[in-house]
Amino acid sequence: MCCADTCKQNAIKIIEDKNGLWYPEIDKNKCIECHSCEIKCHAICSGELIKKSELINYIPRPYIAWNKNTTQREISTSGGSFAAIATQILRNGGVVCGAKIENNRVKHIFVSSEKDLPLIQGVKYIQSNVTGIYKQTKEFLEKGTTVLFSGTPCQIAALYSFLGKKQYNNLYTAEVICHGVVSNLILDYHLKYNHASQIITFRTKSLGWGRDTYTSVIKNGEYVILNKKNLNFFYDAFKSDTVNRPSCYKCKYANIKRIADITMGDYWGKTQFIEDEKKGLSLLITNTIKGDNIITQNKQLILTKAEWKKCLPKNPRLYCDKHECENISITHQLHNIFLYTPKFFAKNFIGPRFTKRNPLAYIRSYFLIKKKKKINYRVEKELIKVLTKLHEL
Ligand SMILES: Cc1cc2nc3c(=O)[nH]c(=O)nc-3n(C[C@H](O)[C@H](O)[C@H](O)COP(=O)(O)OP(=O)(O)OC[C@H]3O[C@@H](n4cnc5c(N)ncnc54)[C@H](O)[C@@H]3O)c2cc1C
Ligand code: SF4
Ligand code: SF4
Repeated sequence: MCCADTCKQNAIKIIEDKNGLWYPEIDKNKCIECHSCEIKCHAICSGELIKKSELINYIPRPYIAWNKNTTQREISTSGGSFAAIATQILRNGGVVCGAKIENNRVKHIFVSSEKDLPLIQGVKYIQSNVTGIYKQTKEFLEKGTTVLFSGTPCQIAALYSFLGKKQYNNLYTAEVICHGVVSNLILDYHLKYNHASQIITFRTKSLGWGRDTYTSVIKNGEYVILNKKNLNFFYDAFKSDTVNRPSCYKCKYANIKRIADITMGDYWGKTQFIEDEKKGLSLLITNTIKGDNIITQNKQLILTKAEWKKCLPKNPRLYCDKHECENISITHQLHNIFLYTPKFFAKNFIGPRFTKRNPLAYIRSYFLIKKKKKINYRVEKELIKVLTKLHEL
């Protein structure tokens, strides 16, 4: 979406296609064929534009972290580290950019006060619309305002690409470890199948961390957690890895050479902090000195150095993609499947539940499991390679 912000003719609009994916649309009457949009597109450019010199020399450091502020941690997905870093930036007069839910879609916004921070806390598993955000970030930076920009690694790469070669000391970037985003249609049908009108959160800790893959919604005007497995169409579809945005399967950012100053994810590597584990732990990786300084100076964060061999195995998106799933993807057929297939078949084909009671789900699950076994085998090999590389650094 950096293309839309780059175009000086305002010729690019970001629109949602019939399969629930955001794509740029060019108004040929306005376009003067200057190709700036292509030059800036992180998906097209070689990646050289987004490489920061610091990233080449710095050895990444992993930490286990959590936020001392229990209220902030409670509404966060992992250990609430993002909120701790964001609070620090806001208290020093800066602004924070992150993803917010609005009308059952996700978009990036800026917040400048702690009161508004909850709007951009918590994970949202559909793609965030960032139209206009890169331009606004540049305006803040040029004015001298400190900016913490958070998002998926591809959004951070797009920001660096948009900003060009100029380095901004007042810019901090924080990326999530990214499993990939799913089509907006999956959310629409999840709400429809559950007779709900609005998504509130994509994960909730009310049953404990690790058992938090349930959405909360507004249903008949009331706040409800859809905490029964048979109501969890969104996660069944999400977990199948067949309804991702197509570019997510061959994600070039699923690489141990990270893009942002800080990488944030879940820490699943079993620790001595049993009690705290239940409330959620973050894995924080610092990829630059700037990133390391900001988290080590943060008074709200409890930090402990982590070991690569413990944190990498449960987080494969830190070092390899899942391109094998591309040929079992049905993302480009979603519109037709939802429109022309009876609800029972659509539900079980798109979000197969791994159950023998349901023959259709069972058949599809069988193929998915077979495919995933192949991926797991490759992931294990990649893990050994990356651990060796990290120990040699
Ligand atoms: C699409 C997606 C996939 C993820 N996959 C994994 C994974 O496989 N493994 C893992 O360990 N962690 C994954 N995460 C990250 C994890 O869920 C937490 O967001 C992260 O650990 C930060 O947690 P927190 O408790 O510090 O703060 P939280 O408050 O939970 O984090 C919120 C942060 O995530 C950003 N964010 C939320 N939704 C979006 C979105 N749709 N687009 C862009 N930015 C968004 C917000 O801007 C904010 O910076 C994923 C996050 C996203 C958005
Ligand atoms: S080629 Fe130039 S004018 Fe045309 S859409 Fe791209 S940036 Fe805009
Ligand atoms: S998987 Fe890669 S391409 Fe997809 S949203 Fe995440 S960072 Fe972007």
